[in-house]
Order: sequence, then structure tokens, then C-alpha cells
Amino acid sequence: MAAHGEITPMPDCAIFADTQAEPRKVYEWLDWLEKQLPFPVHRVTAGDLMKTSTEPRVSGKSGKPYMSHMIPAYTVNEDGTKGNYFRQCTDKHKITPLRKCIDELRGDQDASVWIGISTDESHRMKPSNKAKIVNRWPLIENGISRDACLRWMRAASYPTPPRSACIFCPYKRDAEWLRLKTDSPREFQEVVLYEQLLQLTALSVPRMTGVPYLHDSRISLDKVDFRSAEDAGQLSMFGNECEGMCGV
Ligand code: SF4
Repeated sequence: MAAHGEITPMPDCAIFADTQAEPRKVYEWLDWLEKQLPFPVHRVTAGDLMKTSTEPRVSGKSGKPYMSHMIPAYTVNEDGTKGNYFRQCTDKHKITPLRKCIDELRGDQDASVWIGISTDESHRMKPSNKAKIVNRWPLIENGISRDACLRWMRAASYPTPPRSACIFCPYKRDAEWLRLKTDSPREFQEVVLYEQLLQLTALSVPRMTGVPYLHDSRISLDKVDFRSAEDAGQLSMFGNECEGMCGV
């Protein structure tokens, strides 16, 4: 919409924070999108989240292992109680690399940062907590919903964009898990193995209490019947929980 002059002023650039764990389709989309835009797209990364979230670090003080890039997995403790891991991934792999890039680009100038969430996600709006940086949400300011975005893409004869999120994100809806399993079985298998690795990692880190799962039923992903969970009305956790930086 900015490239068409429908949202103004023309941005200086776009920034994509790459967790290196997006579905293949998102990278293909980004390659295509970069060719359509009259401004550059900077890709920034804090590394491969699949690795950083399963590689314990060792504390210099206590010598004990700890995690600093945890994803918001669902857990079951030994006594059967349920919990969740802290979400460190959005800060480490989205907000920090985005901020770093913005600071490098703006120097000591003011910056207006657009975040592309739509009216259906207005509860995810968070003001900037940094001096000289103002957050704006042009889709919300213009009353544009996700459906309206998709209609706009169709009307302009553009393809339908895939949803951006880590392939293993625990905030996925069942319909999204089912789509991954059906349309990208190799990526789904990769995520099944990732869940097993996450469970092994948890055994070696005292702070990772409980057995972690990626699905909120706390059943191993390869055993979840996504169709029946969807029928039972499972909701997306993404909008409720994420910082407004993932899935944009
Ligand atoms: S998409 Fe999910 S797993 Fe990935 S950084 Fe965001 S909250 Fe974490």
C-alpha cells in the first residue's frame, strides 16, 4: 500500500527480523516482495531460534546451565500441574535486532516506525518506550482489517501472502498446525524433532521445569489430532500473547 502511495509518506525502508525459523513460503514471499518495493528491505537476525532455544548457556557466576532464548512452550510438571515457559524469543530475536537496526539507520534523528498489524489485532498495539522513536500502526489508523488487506492484494492481482511466524511457534492455531502438517510435511517433521530436542534440553537445565510441549493440549505434536481440536473450538493464542512484533 505504501509502494502504491495509498499509505504515506513513503517509508525509507522496511525491516524484517528473521528468526531463521520461518516457513519456506515466507522466505519465498520476501524474495518476491523485495522486487516489488521502491524502498529497501533490511533483513536482520539474532541467529537461528531453533538452535538458540535448545542450546543451554553456562552461567559464569554459578557454572550452572541456563536458557536465554526460550519460546513460550506449554509444560507439564512432575506433579501433573501445568505451566508455561517464559517467552524470551520475541525480545531476543525480534525486538532487539529491530531496535539495533533502527538505531543504526536513524543515528540521532527521530524515527517513525510503522508496525503492520490490522484492526483485528489492535490489542497488540504497544507504544515505543524509546525516546525519539514513535510507533505507528497505519493499517489500524486507516481502519484496515486482515480481510481487507487480502481483498486489496486480490484487487491489485497480487498473490496471497503466507502468515509469518516461526514454524514451531506454540501460539499457532490448529488450522495452522494442520496446514503445516498437510502442505509442508517435511517442515512439520522438523518441528516434531525440534519438540523432542526441546524436551531433552529441558532435562539438562534446572530452570526449565516440566516437560515442554508445542501444542496447548500438552500432547506430543505427532500425536495431536488437529482436526478434532479445531472442531472443539481451540482459539489462537497469538493475538493474546505476542508483543505485536511477531506475525507482522
Ligand atoms: S513467532 Fe512465536 S516462537 Fe517465533 S519469536 Fe514470535 S512468539 Fe517466539
